[in-house]
Amino acid sequence: MPKKETKFIFVLGGVISGLGKGITSASIGYLLKSRGLSVTIMKLDPYLNVDPGTMNPYQHGEVFVLDDGSETDLDLGHYERFIDVDMSKNNNATTGQVYEAVLEKERKGDYLGQTIQVIPHITDEIKKRVYEMNKPKRFDAVIAEVGGTVGDIESLPFLETIRQIRLEKGRENVFIAHVTLLPYVEASEELKTKPTQHSVMKLREIGLEPDLILCRSSDKIPKSVKEKISLFCSVPTTHVVEARDVKSIYEVPLVFHQQRVGELVAAQLGLDGANHDITKLESFVDRFKNPTHEVTIALCGKYTELPDAYKSVLEAFVHAGVENDARVKIQWINSEELTSEKACEEQLGKVDGILVLPGFGPRGTEGKIAAARFAREKKVPYLGLCLGLQIAVIEFARNVCGIADATSSEFKKRSGKPVIDLMDGQKKVKRKGATMRLGAYDCDVPTGTKTYRAYRKKRISERHRHRYEVNNRFRNRLAKNGMIFSGINPDLNLVEIIELKDHPWFVASQFHPELKSRVNRAHPLFRDFVKAAVAHTNSK
Ligand code: GLN
Repeated sequence: MPKKETKFIFVLGGVISGLGKGITSASIGYLLKSRGLSVTIMKLDPYLNVDPGTMNPYQHGEVFVLDDGSETDLDLGHYERFIDVDMSKNNNATTGQVYEAVLEKERKGDYLGQTIQVIPHITDEIKKRVYEMNKPKRFDAVIAEVGGTVGDIESLPFLETIRQIRLEKGRENVFIAHVTLLPYVEASEELKTKPTQHSVMKLREIGLEPDLILCRSSDKIPKSVKEKISLFCSVPTTHVVEARDVKSIYEVPLVFHQQRVGELVAAQLGLDGANHDITKLESFVDRFKNPTHEVTIALCGKYTELPDAYKSVLEAFVHAGVENDARVKIQWINSEELTSEKACEEQLGKVDGILVLPGFGPRGTEGKIAAARFAREKKVPYLGLCLGLQIAVIEFARNVCGIADATSSEFKKRSGKPVIDLMDGQKKVKRKGATMRLGAYDCDVPTGTKTYRAYRKKRISERHRHRYEVNNRFRNRLAKNGMIFSGINPDLNLVEIIELKDHPWFVASQFHPELKSRVNRAHPLFRDFVKAAVAHTNSK
């Protein structure tokens, strides 16, 4: 039987930003996948940066790196974690990329003298990117989340493209989900619908109307409020969905499922599929809510005021916590405050695990080195991520190997012994965008190591985003003093993982394991780190 046409589901947002459109898109994806349908999700980002790789994580949150090395929006992390599909650069399109492609064609003369305009040239380029999600594999449904809020100038070309897609593909193949906010007004004790009404009006102005309205609210939405939204926004009350605040983002698909969101979308689009099988997620959420252990993990970094900068790390702890039946409490440590042994004792003395976060630049690195030393000497479980490995190597070189001025050439350009250094290939690089060692690289893991015990595999593949590496000139000296290189890149002969002997669990990776942790498939290093933290707390 020929496969049905691919369905397109657009997820838009109104009223304010930050309503969780990413989680909503991922949750709809999860529900469709749980019906046995093939689904992918893409993010359309209205900003002019070509990718978020050059953006400050303070402003934009974490940069999520894919296997193919593309640096993408953090929402792609949610998509991968929820629907457990590896994505590629095609899953994220920004206005910057769209314009870059159009201008490149214009310069080559591909438009044969035409005047280049937003409609049709920019909208055609966006459309092409949406349709190309189906190449080479054809999906039952492509979900596309549009960043920003309806009414923003920047998102107009994307919304116009959706209008054209709906015209081309027919309403039976296109579905629009609109995420809004119902603010609660204390004085009148009411949830207000007016902002939602206005955002739907804004949508109508550009020729779109929602098929489903997902309302974020802090409270239960009374039937009368749903009826009002239904009347003013022209959707049946069954299609006004309550998206109440929940304890864990992994509950969102379950909350939607209770309100039959999967069925509603599938029915309207004529998508087949079996009944939902959501039992695995139900038991995941159940274990998350009913842990038997509790551990505190210190996260040492520079951007500790902005948890979005480390989204994937936090999610990896949720997954790893569940697999260990442990609640993982996060204690943020600003490494700039770890200036003395006393400060370390005060801030780290009670924790069950220490993690040094990824990062760039010299600021706060001495404090991170002090944290790694504390973990090593006091035998507190340690996990180092990217910069966290480099820090552990510098600390070990200084305090175990006796190389007092060991450093990274990222911190001190000319003085000191660069136990962490740039590879020759990186030395010539001047441009900042997309020039780091990015994406998936193979790594060999020797048996008999803690790393091997975690992965139970001799060849692994992990995602990278960094410029600096362990300097091979110092490898022998580090090894002689007891550092184990438990992960080596077979092609480039680079150190990818280190661990320590005579320590309960001290492991650090040059790559970013957090990017590959998924619901019901916690990353092995995070899983074993939390396991070691549970053992540590039990031994206290
Ligand atoms: N700044 C370091 C480097 O570029 C580490 C990067 C990171 O932690 N992602 O190598």
